[in-house]
Amino acid sequence: MTRCVILLLAASLLPAQTGWWNTEPIRWVQTNLREVDAAMDTHRLVSQLAEMRANVVLMGMGGISAYYPTRVEFHYPSPYLPAGHDMFGEVVTEAHGRGIRVVGRYDLSKTQKAVYDAHPEWFFRKADGNPVIYNGLYSTCINGGYYRGQAMKILAEGLERYDVDGLFFNMFGNQSTDYSGAYVGLCHCDSCRTAYRKLYGREIPERADDDYRKFLLTSAREVSEAIGKLIREKRPKAGYFNYMQEYTDGIMSESNTAVRRPLPLWPYSASDNVNRALNSQPGKLPVDLNMQFVDFWWRFATVPRQEIALRMWQNIANGGALTFEVNGTLDLQDRQAYEAAKPIFRWVAANEKQFAGMRSAARVLLLAGPSSRGSDAYRGIFRLLTEEHIPFAVSENMEWLGQRQFDLVIATDWAPRGLQQYVEGGGHLLIASARPPEFAVTRAIATTPDVKGYVRVRDHGQFPSLADTDLLLLDGPFTMVEGDGAKSLSLVPPSMIGPPEKVHVDMRDTSTPAIVSRNMGRGSVVWLPWELGALYYRHSLPAHAGLFHGVVDGLYPQRQLKTNAHPLVEVTLMRQGGQTQIHLINLSGHSQTGYFSPVPMHEIRVELLGGFHKARALRGAMDLKVQMRGIYSEIVVPELRDYELVVLN
Ligand SMILES: [Zn+2]
Repeated sequence: MTRCVILLLAASLLPAQTGWWNTEPIRWVQTNLREVDAAMDTHRLVSQLAEMRANVVLMGMGGISAYYPTRVEFHYPSPYLPAGHDMFGEVVTEAHGRGIRVVGRYDLSKTQKAVYDAHPEWFFRKADGNPVIYNGLYSTCINGGYYRGQAMKILAEGLERYDVDGLFFNMFGNQSTDYSGAYVGLCHCDSCRTAYRKLYGREIPERADDDYRKFLLTSAREVSEAIGKLIREKRPKAGYFNYMQEYTDGIMSESNTAVRRPLPLWPYSASDNVNRALNSQPGKLPVDLNMQFVDFWWRFATVPRQEIALRMWQNIANGGALTFEVNGTLDLQDRQAYEAAKPIFRWVAANEKQFAGMRSAARVLLLAGPSSRGSDAYRGIFRLLTEEHIPFAVSENMEWLGQRQFDLVIATDWAPRGLQQYVEGGGHLLIASARPPEFAVTRAIATTPDVKGYVRVRDHGQFPSLADTDLLLLDGPFTMVEGDGAKSLSLVPPSMIGPPEKVHVDMRDTSTPAIVSRNMGRGSVVWLPWELGALYYRHSLPAHAGLFHGVVDGLYPQRQLKTNAHPLVEVTLMRQGGQTQIHLINLSGHSQTGYFSPVPMHEIRVELLGGFHKARALRGAMDLKVQMRGIYSEIVVPELRDYELVVLN
């Protein structure tokens, strides 16, 4: 996920600009063009896009190779661009004629040897003084004169010459590994060394530390801001996209695979990325690129069709752009992903008025702290919420406080001070982490990093789902806190595990609490001072799920949505154009590393809090009967194949 992404840990929110990206439904195709594609049949590409009903194409414009006859010094057209042809210009004209927006892609991170020979000071320098060369291209430095000066001339030419709808930037900011995964280290060019010495009074370190990461992030932000200003000045209606959050109009991410990545796969990748972007940076367009290839070494080998399809449904179910990415043109050597994408693009186009300006309607918030991305603790809670069919929003920041109401907030690693205000104002908070919150819930005595013990259930009445178990597996960090666990959940410390004659013969109970509940102001907090989410992510034990269910029921008794759906049905709840949407995605086709056709499911009953009088299932193309059940409106979805969207009024 992060291989060409700069993670922004505490991004400040800037007022988002309004443009086509947040008022129109977006069906986004990215082609990572090769330099040979400069000679492609542009009419054919645009026809293929129109035929699949894409309405945005992100494609090569300039940087490493220009796809038009550039005249700026140190910027070179692809050697394959036929003389007298303007490939990019032809695409813009023809695409606009067919209602397709064009976002130009630049990669300014590398360029040709001729530039290096003329201006070696613009380039990345390894600790030994040598440049970074990959397939004949020289890496530029984010702090050097190419990025800071020459690139602006290159971009100005493109922006002045073409009526582009936006620009996108790849590889923003001094990667320390190359495409083959080789470590190249940190840049030691004169610009970097001077700036770093001025800031920190010492030389650039051997390996990136916190100061260095901050330094590099600041450098990338400065360039990002300068490019943003240039785009606003030259093409005020154009959008700005890169992998950074500041100054941009979209939050870019990728759902991708890599062969060496540890298993299991994360089948909620697109939901995670889009949900997080939409609710952390409202007003910006979440674009989670649906990468068709398996890994960099095999750009022409496609992941399973159903994986592509699943990401697409997750894109739209969470309010993001529908996306599909390929390398080269759409005349592919492995056409499976493309063939899977086409009917979904067409269906979404046929129903496009549902997919513009979507907002999350969830009343539960999963707070995603700085270390949450990809962490077991975060993913475990993400899965528990999804499998329990609790609609939830993910936010990386506290900007929602005072702006948006939540009935329940869940923190898995980071429980900032601002949550105290939320609770005292009547909110309910679950902290599932050994890391103490930044405000007083109870006194934390000490954290033991690795406890291989149990949690004893002392009160089954409090946790009805745990009727058949008295002990929960505990593995990992545990924080001893003040209080008495003898009436709810308590710690059972490690005891003998062998030989069988000795197993747990010395097991002893303690009154050390494994749960703390407090009322604060008008709200309440439950703190599980151990890693419930991480344990569930790794082992999927029903005992941990049962505890989660019980705790959530206590904090949040009146759920927004209740359903008999299978745990492998993902449900999201959105607002769009004055209507309420329930999205259902069938994940039953996923097992181990496989993605197959999902098993059709039937008679899915959903009760939604509130009074609705009309419901229509768009994929099934039928009206559904709405029945009031107390304060809930009930619908029954007769069949769920891959995806269903129920619109309620
Ligand atoms: Zn440098």
